[in-house]
Amino acid sequence: MRRAFIGGNWKMFLDRSRAVELATALINGTMDVDDRDILIYPAFPLLSDVSQIVKGSKVQLGAQNLFFEKEGAFTGEVSAEMLLSCGCGYVIIGHSERRHIFNEKDELINKKVQAALASGLRPVLCVGELLEEREAGKTQSVVKEQTVKGLENVLPESFERIVIAYEPVWAIGTGKTATPEDADSVHSFIRETISGLYSDAIAESLRIIYGGSVKPDNIDSLMAKENIDGALVGGASLKSDSFLRIIKFES
Ligand code: PEP
Repeated sequence: MRRAFIGGNWKMFLDRSRAVELATALINGTMDVDDRDILIYPAFPLLSDVSQIVKGSKVQLGAQNLFFEKEGAFTGEVSAEMLLSCGCGYVIIGHSERRHIFNEKDELINKKVQAALASGLRPVLCVGELLEEREAGKTQSVVKEQTVKGLENVLPESFERIVIAYEPVWAIGTGKTATPEDADSVHSFIRETISGLYSDAIAESLRIIYGGSVKPDNIDSLMAKENIDGALVGGASLKSDSFLRIIKFES
């Protein structure tokens, strides 16, 4: 049985006081939630303050990105060790906005995955196809390549600390959601890919979450699917009422 995982990607939204307010509301609203992982991913400057607030609560902290080097002259970048020292346990890697706005390639994404694992952070590796790739029938090949390259040289024993997020790019921030059936079939394909690369047991225990316009009114049907183990939520994670409803999905 895979433990559900609901993450809120705050992207480049919220200032310090609104971040503190939202984190406080989420803590208060999740005191009785024990059977799922609840994550928030604030922007870097908010991490230390939010970390103080979520300490000891059901809400865990992650970052939206990292750089693979431990330290050095890398202006504007942030290391895994810095994130750990700010209270992060998780990090998103290879988000489509990093891939397509900041031109991150699989090789760099793999280095980030390796750096996260080496430091003790838990990476959430994002994969997903563009609309034109889906329309050209390339969803599986794109997702397979991103998965295989993103996880290159990752040891089998690291898998208990890895989450994969399937986020079709055409569904992110657009209001268009993949149908639960479509998402489930891509998740199943990712599981088969991991099974081929590693083993059935690793594939079975790996959490594969869905992201792309997840909202209170579609979370239950997504979570009812066999291969969907959680959600990475952007827009709907910025308001406590909608994110709490998503966290408290029923399936
Ligand atoms: C995301 O940022 O990972 C995401 C899925 O955004 P949204 O929920 O707004 O589509």
